[in-house]
Amino acid sequence: MDYKAASSIQDLQYFGEFGGVNPSISDSSTYTFLSAKTMFDTFEGNTEGCYLYSRHSSPSNLYLGEAMAALEGTETANVYASGMGAISAVIFQLCDSDDHIVSSRTIYGGTYAFMKNFLKKFDIGTSFVDITNLETVEKSITKKTKMIYCEAVSNPLLEVADIKALSKLAKKHGIPLVVDNTFSPLSISAARLGADIVVHSLTKFINGSSDCVAGAVCASKDFCLKLKDVNDGAGMLLGSTLDSLRAASILKNMRTLHIRIKKHSENALYLAQQFEKDGLRVVYPGLASHPGHEAVKKQMAHEYGFGGLLTIDVGTLEKANMLMESMQKENLGYLAVSLGFYKTLFSAPGTSTSSEIPEDEQTQMGLSEGLIRFSIGLDNNIERTYLAMRSCMEKLNILDSKMVSF
Ligand code: PLP
Repeated sequence: MDYKAASSIQDLQYFGEFGGVNPSISDSSTYTFLSAKTMFDTFEGNTEGCYLYSRHSSPSNLYLGEAMAALEGTETANVYASGMGAISAVIFQLCDSDDHIVSSRTIYGGTYAFMKNFLKKFDIGTSFVDITNLETVEKSITKKTKMIYCEAVSNPLLEVADIKALSKLAKKHGIPLVVDNTFSPLSISAARLGADIVVHSLTKFINGSSDCVAGAVCASKDFCLKLKDVNDGAGMLLGSTLDSLRAASILKNMRTLHIRIKKHSENALYLAQQFEKDGLRVVYPGLASHPGHEAVKKQMAHEYGFGGLLTIDVGTLEKANMLMESMQKENLGYLAVSLGFYKTLFSAPGTSTSSEIPEDEQTQMGLSEGLIRFSIGLDNNIERTYLAMRSCMEKLNILDSKMVSF
């Protein structure tokens, strides 16, 4: 792919309907046609550049789509009412019944459940594999395989996918590589590294204010148009349409994404380094101890850092719960799922966002019950946050005081 990509949303220029600096928000579910013939043509599939009905597209959704395409360096992008709305549309567009998917085994619990349980209704099978083991990935591809699916940085284990290598493999077998880049916008440009389709939950970092759910599919014009096809487009027919008002508010929030991501990364790196010095079992792609550290360094845009997510394993679910409750009491963040908020969010994925994954499979993939996932916030004084978190840990005997040195 060699699309001329804007390096950031700053490079896009918008003029509102009345010369405003923000585009006007479209407030219509349906659109007029000057001639009946054009309406007929539109239903025949000649929809480009035409507004038909807001489930198909709307000016506000197109603006946000344009920004997402610039972010990911793809030809275009469609936006959806949720990340799952985007992911399920892509899967249904690419797979017929009896087809097969090769997916990373460490992915968001909802996507995992969709592939493992829901797609059974259509006899679509998924092989969940260790995505860092290219040999296993290749061995799992069959004649029925319609895509390789992974997360650039996985939820919740923060495994790093080698997108260039996976893309080469996908091309060799003539199938698309679909990458969920929710955890690493700006830091990793999955399409520029060879992904054919990039999906996002905009709910997270891209919107950044935890006030709505939304999603996006960034891909070629051809694929995005197929998703919108009035006759067999999964996006159009499944109906997970983003509301225009929300699209407009997400677009406005997206303008500060580059600043926020740098701060999330800076704070997360600081905490990860301190926690590691304290002898905690911490996982963060920015630490040399992370198995994917070299892979992420190779494919990231360094100015945006290693991202805002880290995990620590405190041994038991009981300890994890006590620590999270204590940190919330001290106003160090919220005990809540999701990520990308200005406040730190923490949850135990085994009993929350990954609870769809059966316990034995959680154990197999290294998702232990004492694991806490942190989405590190935009704290202005992260050293103060660290000391307060550390004090919570000390009170609960999570830190072995002998290992700790100031
Ligand atoms: N992809 C990842 C990596 C996620 O973490 C999530 C949600 O947590 C989703 C997709 C689904 O997004 P949404 O909740 O917006 O449907």
